Amino acid sequence: MSRLAPGVLREAVIDTAAITANVRHLRRMLGVEVMAVVKADGYGHGAVRSAAAALAGGASRLGVTDIDEALQLRRGGIDAPILAWLHAPGTAFDEAAAHGIELGISNMDQLQRAAAAASADRPVTVHLKLETGLGRNGIAPADAPAVLAEAARLERIGRLRVQGLFSHLSNTSHADDLAALARFREGMAAASAAGLAPRLHHIAATAAAIDLPDTRLDCVRLGIGVYGLSPFDDRTSADLGLRPAMTVRAAVAAVRRVPAGQGVSYGYTYRTARETTLALVPIGYADGVPRQASGAGPVVIRGRRFRVSGRIAMDQFIVDVGDTPVEIGDEAVLFGDATLGVPGAEEWADAAGTINYEIVTRIGPRVPRREAAS
Ligand SMILES: *Cc1c(COP(=O)(O)O)cnc(C)c1O
Repeated sequence: MSRLAPGVLREAVIDTAAITANVRHLRRMLGVEVMAVVKADGYGHGAVRSAAAALAGGASRLGVTDIDEALQLRRGGIDAPILAWLHAPGTAFDEAAAHGIELGISNMDQLQRAAAAASADRPVTVHLKLETGLGRNGIAPADAPAVLAEAARLERIGRLRVQGLFSHLSNTSHADDLAALARFREGMAAASAAGLAPRLHHIAATAAAIDLPDTRLDCVRLGIGVYGLSPFDDRTSADLGLRPAMTVRAAVAAVRRVPAGQGVSYGYTYRTARETTLALVPIGYADGVPRQASGAGPVVIRGRRFRVSGRIAMDQFIVDVGDTPVEIGDEAVLFGDATLGVPGAEEWADAAGTINYEIVTRIGPRVPRREAAS
């Protein structure tokens, strides 16, 4: 990659082959079924392309947050099993059921609504979600006996198929996660005592799947790792054998030679120390480049590493490139695969006080996604 195509201000290049390779690698390493999580438009990478690439790498199912995301995958031609686990109050599940979407169930009301969406010849497939300490949704321990019993009854009369039992971890510490796993195992025992025999027990996302083998159970729900990013502060993508799939870059849109003392961008939080060259990079906070990284976010132009000079604006920021011979049209890489000499998404996360998940997920709709040539 060196220049953007003519007329392109900014883009996110998505390496779908990296997604496929990441899933293949994780699947081999973990040894259990992989549900690739493609919520939030595939963490910003594009949901349908990410889903297809993950399935090609050996994922056998997909996870999303809500039913609209699941239906978008169906419209995109994805026919693999899809689980959606967060529902608007009072949702009727008929459309989801008609498209074979599997439903995460967190309370009695959802269970009954799911059963109501069954047709005579087709039960609705559900995964019962147990609260094990994260404090979000999931069936509360006090409600579990009644919900499990009702689920078993609805399964016996052919309205539901209880395919899974799941929960979600806090990633607070190994001890906290293992305590949640112990609560989950109690829930597994209660489910089987109630007459349920779910085929899939799943609790681990990327971090626990890698670090806590006991949490792998039958299936792991992998998000961040699928996209080649590390969920750990102390290990890089490369340490985990993963390749970041998203590169964000822009075409330098203006270059200006200025004297010492020139104020740069809103508020003049940066002033040139001497005669220098300023390059305008046409991507800003409207595109998901965090304004909190003003004065700090890294950029590579002509193989040299710089930092944003002054404030990041809605549509653009400035880089003081010194005497580097930068020209209009040069590519400015914000982040990508750090093994290729560009910043990782983690560096932007550090500069903005957030995590790599948020950096890739917030890259906005004004940034066209282009699939890398393979
Ligand atoms: C987002 C999410 C995941 C994936 O988490 P990663 O840390 O990105 O692997 C798994 N399960 C649930 C319930 C989630 O919300």
